[in-house]
Amino acid sequence: MQGGKLIIFSAPSGSGKTTIVKHLLQQPELNLAFSISATSRPRRGKEKHGEHYYFMSLSEFKNHIKQDDFLEWEEVYRDNFYGTLKTEVDRLWAEGKNVIFDIDVAGGLRIKKKFPEQTLAVFVKPPSIDELKIRLKKRSTESEDKINMRIAKASVELATAPQFDSIIKNYDLETALKEAHKLVADFVGAKVADGQ
Ligand code: 5GP
Repeated sequence: MQGGKLIIFSAPSGSGKTTIVKHLLQQPELNLAFSISATSRPRRGKEKHGEHYYFMSLSEFKNHIKQDDFLEWEEVYRDNFYGTLKTEVDRLWAEGKNVIFDIDVAGGLRIKKKFPEQTLAVFVKPPSIDELKIRLKKRSTESEDKINMRIAKASVELATAPQFDSIIKNYDLETALKEAHKLVADFVGAKVADGQ
């Protein structure tokens, strides 16, 4: 495996990293493509196979682990596995793209370790655990139990922030978007127009 740049956005669930990643994908000069992860978790709402995730059964996922098909994988929540298929990154590199990831902190750091020079690993920090709770409840895509599970994990994840190349504080979304745009543009060597 070789090719373009890898841009990782990792953060506790509800920190706003998905919003940031979506914003960056709309900036043509960054030449980014989204790495679609594989997961064994059930589909939510309007999610589509091959667009948001490659949805698969637990046994299918475990089979891919056995075949060494993943660049990284994690059991992010109990029995909910998530992973980046090597074929996915190869596919996007073959298109000449820089690859952007929305993955958990352990997975993000694993990729950074494998490709230290090619990777920009960014940690998105929420204002506080309380604010995270409010955001997850507002999103109301998960049950109370699942929200509590995500909050418990968030405290552990926050402690890993110093291991990332950069930390973006998502206290104000507009500021966070601008900061993220500049960081990625500098890393991939793209020019950003003044005022963007
Ligand atoms: P969700 O279930 O909300 O879509 O995602 C749950 C968590 O799994 C998020 O933190 C998300 O970033 C992470 N995740 C998604 N894809 C991957 C992946 O390929 N690898 C790893 N390690 N984590 C992932």
